[in-house]
Amino acid sequence: MVPRAYPVGTGWIEVVTGCMFSGKTEELIRRLNRARYATQRVVVFKPSIDTRYAAEDVVSHSEQRFPSIPVAHAHEIHRQVGDAQVVGIDEAQFFDLDLVGVVEHLANEGRRVVVAGLDQDFRGVPFEPMPQLLAVAEYVTKTLAVCMVCGAPANRSQRLVPREARVVIGARDAYEARCRLHWRADPEDTQQRLPLPSE
Ligand code: ADP
Ligand code: MG
Repeated sequence: MVPRAYPVGTGWIEVVTGCMFSGKTEELIRRLNRARYATQRVVVFKPSIDTRYAAEDVVSHSEQRFPSIPVAHAHEIHRQVGDAQVVGIDEAQFFDLDLVGVVEHLANEGRRVVVAGLDQDFRGVPFEPMPQLLAVAEYVTKTLAVCMVCGAPANRSQRLVPREARVVIGARDAYEARCRLHWRADPEDTQQRLPLPSE
């Protein structure tokens, strides 16, 4: 018997999180492809609300894709996961807090769970259930995009169209990546940065 680096049957949670265009989906697909090359059974879920590029596939802005199962609610993930050893979930911020229990359950069963999602909404507010997932994950990767104003590392999603709703599904036409300096909570605010509290 060859000694193993970790006990057989141990599952865990990996979270990949950052702003829009930061490469979360690319990174998710990269990890899942490697698992597939290792002949592990992989299944990927995405919220059925996200139909930007394809109804069925998880698709990155750079047009990499991976077949997925769209689900309306986190509980459907557990019902459809079957005997998958590796479970991918994209756009996790579109699920409700029930996703945390579902993901924990999958990892407790011995599965590797890779979750990708936005850490903040367009207002810069933590986007549930990502904060809760970050707290319980074994591994966390924060991804950064490139600021479309100055080229600095960007960790915010700038909404380009003024709209009240927290969720506006869209890509390049509706959002762009911005650094802390050039991001504005209000798309109609023409100032290049928010005033300091003392200003
Ligand atoms: P996410 O899932 O985080 O929204 P994706 O993995 O779908 O990101 O896409 C990342 C890709 O988006 C990059 O490889 C690049 O081709 C493209 N892209 C478009 N705008 C930017 C930007 N401002 N910064 C970095 N990458 C960008
Ligand atoms: Mg993505």
